[in-house]
Amino acid sequence: NVRVRFCPSPTGNPHVGLVRTALFNWAFARHTGGTYVFRIEDTDVARDSEESYLQLLDSLRWLGFDWDEGPEVGGPHVPYRQSQRMDIYRDVARKLVDGGYAYHCYCTTEELDARRDAARAAGKPSGYDGHCRDLSAEQVAAYEAEGRTAIVRFRMPDETITFTDLVRGELTFTPENVPDYGIVRANGAPLYTLVNPVDDALMDITHVLRGEDLLSSTPRQIALYKALIELGIAKAVPEFGHLPYVMGEGNKKLSKRDPQSALNLYRERGFLPEGLLNYLSLLGWSLAADRDIFSIEEMVAAFDIKDVNPNPARFDLKKAESINADHIRLLDVKDFTERCRPWLKAPFAPWAPEDFDEAMWAAIAPHAQTRVKVLSEITDNVDFLFLPEPVSDEASWTKAMKEGSDALLRTAKEKLEAADWTSPESLKEAVLSAGEAHGLKLGKAQAPVRVAVTGRTVGLPLFESLQVLGKEKTLARIDAALA
Ligand code: GLU
Repeated sequence: NVRVRFCPSPTGNPHVGLVRTALFNWAFARHTGGTYVFRIEDTDVARDSEESYLQLLDSLRWLGFDWDEGPEVGGPHVPYRQSQRMDIYRDVARKLVDGGYAYHCYCTTEELDARRDAARAAGKPSGYDGHCRDLSAEQVAAYEAEGRTAIVRFRMPDETITFTDLVRGELTFTPENVPDYGIVRANGAPLYTLVNPVDDALMDITHVLRGEDLLSSTPRQIALYKALIELGIAKAVPEFGHLPYVMGEGNKKLSKRDPQSALNLYRERGFLPEGLLNYLSLLGWSLAADRDIFSIEEMVAAFDIKDVNPNPARFDLKKAESINADHIRLLDVKDFTERCRPWLKAPFAPWAPEDFDEAMWAAIAPHAQTRVKVLSEITDNVDFLFLPEPVSDEASWTKAMKEGSDALLRTAKEKLEAADWTSPESLKEAVLSAGEAHGLKLGKAQAPVRVAVTGRTVGLPLFESLQVLGKEKTLARIDAALA
């Protein structure tokens, strides 16, 4: 029975790398009929915030990742917030020390630094040197008398650790590369190095799927797991799969601090969750060589962690948008009409709320659906319908209004006056024949009309736009342009 976990720390805004990890775990759980555990790793009082915690919950819900155990949902291993599990960690730490798996280390930072520098200078391994591994009772008493405080340090076994990573295959770590490491701070605060594997053990996690940046902690965790098994706290070492790095601009690792990486940005720009997830799934995985667009259900049906590619994946915003655009086209029109709502209101929309017209929106929405890549683009595309006057954009105006444009607009106005406004075809005929009268092709004839009516040189299909705006307003705007 597969049990995976998504266990972010609530330190700031969720980012796309985190979402990719959440997605692969979720798809794996759903594909295998397993359990998706959501755990909050909030043991760092200085960096964690309640706001960030609430954002994580909200983000997961927006993305559609339902969790089987975790905050607000509960489960057999409550609580799922590490800040509420401190007694458990204290207890485990004590058992590890009592069993000889961990020890108190009295070395000061200065001593550690000095010895590390010396080891480096001598070309020796520069990790912790085991100084406090086997202190005698007298040495401990002496340190205590000096007023030193101790951290708890885990004793790494002197043996090579080998495991088969689900993504990368067999990996081997030799002892000199994995020194003893701290698990509890001198002030008694347990560290990630302890609480993460302890909870994975207590929550019976079977598969740990996480970013490659955590690979170096895996041999330590495996050793700790073995100690926990001997102590009767853990049942078995889970399997590990490390997801590839995501590279951003300039082939540098996409970092949490990159503005491009904030999930909120994608939400505000009007990515559909299904579009974003489809794109993020391609960062290390693919459904088939010739299929970029698929639903989350298709991903779940096909997902196997063994198919994940270990090579770094490149984050490409253009591709993300284009995939999102395809998902927008696939929506039911009604659904599209509703999902655009946030961008038809403040703070995004520049028009007064009372100028918004439901019928006009319903009429233009199907045309908008074929054009926008992200939902936020809707605002600029329909503002001409709800603003008393089209946005005046100097650059567009000069681009579209050429010599002779006035004459053309006059003819177009006459023809439009006589056209059948129940049919966009008839409006097109009108502009076409106005163009002919001035020796202009449709494209050239259309440009001044578009700019006079919508204020822009590009936008939704013109004749449908004119029809939705209505005869009276269209003609008045052409008049205004001629004035
Ligand atoms: N809380 C850890 C992090 O956000 C989880 C690491 C892990 O998945 O083991 O980096």
